[in-house]
Amino acid sequence: MFELLLTDSHSKARRGRLTTAHGVIQTPIFMPVGTQGTVKAVAPSELRELDAQIILGNTYHLFLRPGLDVIREFGGLHGFSRWDRPILTDSGGFQVFSLARLRKITDEGVHFQSHIDGAPCFIGPKEAMEIQAALGSDIAMLFDECPPYPCEYDYAARSLERTLLWAKRCKEVPTPGAKFGIVQGATFADLRRQSAEALVSMDFDGYAVGGVSVGEPEEEMLAAVENSEPYLPPGKARYAMGLGTPPQMVEMIARGIDMFDCVLPTRVARNGTAYTWGGTVNLKNACHTRAKGPIEEGCTCPACREFSRSYIRHLLKAEEILGLRLVTLHNLHFYLNLMATIRQALEAGAFSEFRQRFHARYSKVEAPPEE
Ligand SMILES: [Zn+2]
Repeated sequence: MFELLLTDSHSKARRGRLTTAHGVIQTPIFMPVGTQGTVKAVAPSELRELDAQIILGNTYHLFLRPGLDVIREFGGLHGFSRWDRPILTDSGGFQVFSLARLRKITDEGVHFQSHIDGAPCFIGPKEAMEIQAALGSDIAMLFDECPPYPCEYDYAARSLERTLLWAKRCKEVPTPGAKFGIVQGATFADLRRQSAEALVSMDFDGYAVGGVSVGEPEEEMLAAVENSEPYLPPGKARYAMGLGTPPQMVEMIARGIDMFDCVLPTRVARNGTAYTWGGTVNLKNACHTRAKGPIEEGCTCPACREFSRSYIRHLLKAEEILGLRLVTLHNLHFYLNLMATIRQALEAGAFSEFRQRFHARYSKVEAPPEE
């Protein structure tokens, strides 16, 4: 299902192609997050126009609401949400551990209370895979325990043992699409290696690095990938879960990662923050009050093609829904276009130059207004 097309000569960056029942995904790729069966504030037709190749759905949220009975009546999440391109579903593990109340973890799975109405629920490896099969996921993620940060060695080791036990059970449950294993092991290099090697011996269709972007410093995040990647087979896709900022994604690609998902572009858009090649811009700032130019010169997104920063700032200040929608469209376009630009750079043998130029230009400090 994954084809490695080329590897960069100066880094571990890769250009690849992932084939699923709902279409082909060109990697490196960013996957917009559709937690509740929708990428917040964006219609499927708009995602297609932005050239999103694959989106994420969330097992935990969709299992609780609307529930599988409803989604099954539509033949799965594609029919229900009217998104006809590939969908990757997470296993629900991360949300069970971060959102649900009164968790009781056993080797069978996790007993918890719904964060919506307190109803008692249970998800184990078998259930997680059955839910993802019912959703009709193109890429199902294994059910895992995502340890918190920071985490003691002993807990991380015990948790990993359980996650590997669950991986074996997940493997036995049939799902319509691909299955990706998730490398855990917190911040411990030997556990990361043990996790990666054990999963690879079970032979999954792709591998994710999990337990990153859980509040750890950036060096730990990079180290988690560096300690996992060498043990993953080059012929399978690699996915860094829940990442990241644009500079983090560039660095992860240089370390051999192919796939990303992150709520940042949609979440910060709702606060008026836009991504540009020069860094982030807070559109609510007074300096944009009379700015006639677009969010970013030369950007081809629906917001920049038509509207001024001044107008978008006004919409944001007035809390008009269109304002957050326009910034969301711009940010998704930025993330998707960043990946398309990187794919082109890789094909041209110019990723190193791109990486250098990108970091030289991208600033964490807000770019000054251009007019
Ligand atoms: Zn734009």
